[in-house]
Amino acid sequence: MSDSFEMYVDWCVQCGAEHSYMNGDCDTCGQNTFSKTKPVNSFTGEYEFLSNFYEGAPIEMFDGLVYKTTEHAYQAHKTHNMEERKRVAAMSTPGKAKRAGKHVWLRDDWEDVKISIMEGIVQKKFLTHFDLKDKLLATGNAHLIEGNTWNDPFWGVYKGQGTNHLGQILMKIRNNLNINGSD
Ligand SMILES: [Zn+2]
Repeated sequence: MSDSFEMYVDWCVQCGAEHSYMNGDCDTCGQNTFSKTKPVNSFTGEYEFLSNFYEGAPIEMFDGLVYKTTEHAYQAHKTHNMEERKRVAAMSTPGKAKRAGKHVWLRDDWEDVKISIMEGIVQKKFLTHFDLKDKLLATGNAHLIEGNTWNDPFWGVYKGQGTNHLGQILMKIRNNLNINGSD
């Protein structure tokens, strides 16, 4: 019976909720795209390394500064002003870097470039930390959803709704690593 039960279960790729073939749209978010592979729907616990707040992977960016986390780097790149970048980079935690990023001299084109900047920063993390690259590849073809509780439907998914740009970036990087080989 358990085998036949599993045949009828899949997961919503929008919100990560379990779903039965017997039902139509997802009960949680109303979308109708599903996967047989269980998604990662929270970047916590064993998947914390996917989070921008993950503190075990400092990166050096093209501006020559070393950032403790991808969050530090992202917040600093909101401005072209190097003194402000250094101030953000010096913050002791990613949460403080995020708050500091609200007070920088914002570059004019930020809204147009922020997704590609995030992609470059997250890519740097996985190309320079081989242990994390291996862990990313080990997620296989699981859909990566930055499910969050802090009302961010842009980078992630909040209460089933969102564009999940961070998850999309991570899946794109994983896909490129698979195409180009993991060495
Ligand atoms: Zn759903």
